[in-house]
Amino acid sequence: MSNYNTFFKKAKCSHCDNHIVIQRKYSGENLCLKCFQQNIEKIVYKTISKYEMLKPQDRIIVALSGGKDSIALLYNLYMIQNRTHNSKPLIALTIDEGIKDYRENSIKKAKDFCKKYNIEYRIISFKEKIGNTLNEIVKMKKETPDYKYACNYCATIRRRLLNDGAKELGGTILAMGHNLTDFAETYLMNILYNRLDIIANQYFFKEENKKISQFYIKKIFPLIRIPEEEIFLYSNIKKFDYYPSHCPYREQDPIIRKRVLDFIQQCKESSPEIEFNLLNGFLELSKGLYHQKGNRNYNSCQICGYPCGTGKFCTFCKYIQEFKK
Ligand code: SF4
Ligand SMILES: [Zn+2]
Ligand SMILES: [Zn+2]
Repeated sequence: MSNYNTFFKKAKCSHCDNHIVIQRKYSGENLCLKCFQQNIEKIVYKTISKYEMLKPQDRIIVALSGGKDSIALLYNLYMIQNRTHNSKPLIALTIDEGIKDYRENSIKKAKDFCKKYNIEYRIISFKEKIGNTLNEIVKMKKETPDYKYACNYCATIRRRLLNDGAKELGGTILAMGHNLTDFAETYLMNILYNRLDIIANQYFFKEENKKISQFYIKKIFPLIRIPEEEIFLYSNIKKFDYYPSHCPYREQDPIIRKRVLDFIQQCKESSPEIEFNLLNGFLELSKGLYHQKGNRNYNSCQICGYPCGTGKFCTFCKYIQEFKK
């Protein structure tokens, strides 16, 4: 540890003469506080431009949880929009799942942040839209044989409410705070479960399909080239007042996602570039699969009309029907 501290005290930034705050093992760069901060903001900007994420007149809805990632994203988009001539103001949107002792705290942070920067802020709750909080759903389903774990219910319902909420707010883009680590984890999960349709569907340069886009707003992920620990460092350097805890269900449920994340973290110790390899693998594979699977026919859900693969009902509607039983 003392060797490590001595290294940090002595090492100079790769771009100036200042002492460093981070050594990027995946690129060999050493960065001081100022250069690191500037570099993160440059990566966000370049990611948006490289993957053609935004058009000047887009109305951006930012999914805001009140954690470090979504606050760092909102701040960067706010700065970018302020520099863009005639841009439309951002709207931040939180989905309140109804997770006791967690979401109310993160909502407070989200609300305070928006107030400080004068950003319009909206909340949509599970309770108001589907009649139950996530806590109530878990309580109701926990002892049943078809219990699917909190995260499965939560992710499906939250995705739908975010999508519909963003559209109702007049959004043309939904910006999500997933960082590189989240992205690597999700990609590996999709590989493990052979979810090739989902990977194809996540291709960044999809042509607009009118049948699909009447239901789904375009999502963008401007933080996908930044590892989690760098968003953490950046948010602390910027002194963002974010909510630092994780959702309690993430720890409680025996979901494989947590094990996949632990595996990636272990791999990073000997192969620091592993998350970037996964991202590059995703970009290649999603492109290939998207073009290969091409113009697939989708069924429409018999309840809500949304595209739903080969079944009669979408997963969202299946869950809502289950909760009514
Ligand atoms: S960890 Fe699971 S239950 Fe908690 S917010 Fe995320 S998806 Fe929902
Ligand atoms: Zn520097
Ligand atoms: Zn449906």
